[in-house]
Amino acid sequence: MIEPGATIGILGGGQLGRMTGFAARSLGYDVHVLDPDPNCPASAIASRVVAARFDDADAAASLAERCAVVTLEIEQIGAAAMRAVADRAPLRPGADAVYIIQDRIRQKQWLHHKGFPVGPFRTVSTREDATAAFTSLGRCIFKSAHGGYDGRGQVRVDSANGAAAAWEALGAVPCLVEQFLDIEVEISMQVARRPAVPVTAPRPVIFPPALNFHTAGILDWSVLPAAVSSDVVRHAETVASGIAEGLGIEGLLAVELFVLRDGRLLVNELAPRPHNTFHATERSCATSQFEQLVRAVCGLPLGSPELLRPAAIANLLGDLWTDGTPDFAAAMEVPSVRLHLYGKATARPGRKMGHLSAVGATGDEALERVLSGRRALRP
Ligand code: ADP
Ligand code: MG
Repeated sequence: MIEPGATIGILGGGQLGRMTGFAARSLGYDVHVLDPDPNCPASAIASRVVAARFDDADAAASLAERCAVVTLEIEQIGAAAMRAVADRAPLRPGADAVYIIQDRIRQKQWLHHKGFPVGPFRTVSTREDATAAFTSLGRCIFKSAHGGYDGRGQVRVDSANGAAAAWEALGAVPCLVEQFLDIEVEISMQVARRPAVPVTAPRPVIFPPALNFHTAGILDWSVLPAAVSSDVVRHAETVASGIAEGLGIEGLLAVELFVLRDGRLLVNELAPRPHNTFHATERSCATSQFEQLVRAVCGLPLGSPELLRPAAIANLLGDLWTDGTPDFAAAMEVPSVRLHLYGKATARPGRKMGHLSAVGATGDEALERVLSGRRALRP
């Protein structure tokens, strides 16, 4: 067990690292982070920021040398940097799981080969592959294997000519191409697992499912718990905990899922870290996802994921800053609304600057509150 007072390292100093850092600080840990930007959001809570790229093995070694354990808030970490960490401190989740997840092609092939439910897909690395993928899948989405997030690195395709153009627009790099699915709702699961101790296999602890709404590929809002049938919840729990076990996750694993109009439940993608769709755990659950990550990577008892009350979050993108500072006070007039800002100095369209959270007697009430709070930001 890594006792409070020790230092936790975080690869990545964005908002997820910052919020994990607040939880770690509350539990009495010190926090060091590695991020290319010395003024990253987590710099506010870290006593040391190693400013370096995520593929800088020397910098990763320097971070790990002074930490009792290292976790991450971004999966795009170079293999040599992960090895440099793992040689000096436990890296949780481990390099093997992160390696599988960080490449969309590897990730989807792993899920498929392990028998987890995924939609039809192809892999593309030439112009000819691109056209053939459209011929076999029909309407589809090209996703670059590396580096995409918040809908970036993706192009939707409706024609064979469009397929080759999309592949070129993405930089003619290896791509995962997925059939465009007829989605009824998007949900996500967040699973926590502790490191194995001799004899007893760690039992995954699962938060209630989140219901998520995306606009242009970016999460717009999320509600906890998702109003889906108990059959869907049970199935999603089985799939998510099976994946976390299969990957040997020590820490958190978020699983994004699609519920299709025909009733099928398919895995969209994985993230070995805290997830935007579980920020509401800070308001709705006995333990937040951030505290759960700290507990998991330190080998402390996992917290209860029990739902205490419904809650919702709405993201605040940089677009809200275009005409000056939003009217935060107006949003905070709405009952139970809280403001979370990530300390990012410059607002750009599509950039996640913060979120609003609210609780309610029902998920719908919590959602109405965060959405009306967000509308009040721009009268
Ligand atoms: P990101 O890493 O940017 O979150 P995702 O693969 O999760 O990338 O895609 C972002 C969003 O795009 C999803 O949440 C969903 O709304 C939509 N999307 C992704 N894949 C598909 C698909 N195969 N069919 C229909 N919509 C999709
Ligand atoms: Mg996603």
